[in-house]
Amino acid sequence: MRRALITGITGQDGSYLAEFLLSKGYKVYGLRRRTSTPNYENLEAVKDDIEWLSGDLTDLASLIGAVHLSEPHEVYNLAAQSFVETSWPQPLLTGQITALGVTNLLEAVRIVQPTARFYQASSSEMFGKVVETPQKETTPFYPRSPYGASKVYGHWITVNYRESFDMFACSGILFNHESPRRGIEFVTRKVTDAVARIKLGVQDKLRMGNLEAKRDWGFAGDYVKAMWLMLQQEAAEDYVIATGETRTVRELLQIAFHYVGLNYEDYVTIDPKLFRPAEVDLLLGDCHKAKTKLGWKPEVSFEEMIRMMVDSDLRKVEWEIKK
Ligand code: GDP
Repeated sequence: MRRALITGITGQDGSYLAEFLLSKGYKVYGLRRRTSTPNYENLEAVKDDIEWLSGDLTDLASLIGAVHLSEPHEVYNLAAQSFVETSWPQPLLTGQITALGVTNLLEAVRIVQPTARFYQASSSEMFGKVVETPQKETTPFYPRSPYGASKVYGHWITVNYRESFDMFACSGILFNHESPRRGIEFVTRKVTDAVARIKLGVQDKLRMGNLEAKRDWGFAGDYVKAMWLMLQQEAAEDYVIATGETRTVRELLQIAFHYVGLNYEDYVTIDPKLFRPAEVDLLLGDCHKAKTKLGWKPEVSFEEMIRMMVDSDLRKVEWEIKK
């Protein structure tokens, strides 16, 4: 039986990946941080099928223990302080988890189970103030936030362990990917949640930041398959995972409000506090390499995904109202 260890398993990507690996017959080990109120919302369906290990990316001892107990064939590092905006008020915490945490986990694998295949969740935020469009594996990085800078470190330390210790370590440079399980603070989910609340009459306005920012938004359920595919190849390499289409935040608003028969202009107000100290204006990925080498392609369109998210939020808010 194949064994996989996933960090960040309770998050959006971790939960989709856990379901995907369980469906492939893997034994899945999930690293969880101790919190006063555990959050298994994304894992309701499979929580009892997961072997739980406690640990934290900032605690090397716990990672050594987790790798020792799980003896994994594959390790997926999806844990991070993952919200760009929070990385300005908490730059050091972001660096400790999102940057140095990667070295901790690589060290644990190198010491305990060096043959394990390692996946690092790299990010399109590393491209930041983009130096070419579309962005591909060879595009130089220019991060624009403490989060982006931390991900650049995580990316290069993964490459470095591959080249220094001959470890099978890959980075997937994933462009934004969303789903009904996306954290509420990210712009897609913030919008679909608000659309549901406005439609159901429990909210009347939506405060937004920069509507002109452009992102290449895909569906998280598609993207976790690419993570797995990267670890099934003969050689460890890095891949861009993206849709090859870019949309503005304004288009996101138009599509989401239109789906429930509303016009976003009647509800959205601009709040200067929601603008970022440094913005990433445009992300557009070129995933040609993943298409040809991994045979991967995105399946769910942007419109389909937004409709899926609005439908899910309508159900959640209806349920909340009934309670
Ligand atoms: P990111 O690409 O990882 O930063 O993903 P987000 O979903 O947090 O943000 C995507 C883009 O939406 C960024 O360019 C933000 O500046 C922009 N944006 C505009 N208004 C908002 C808002 O109210 N919340 C968030 N999170 N982003 C917003």
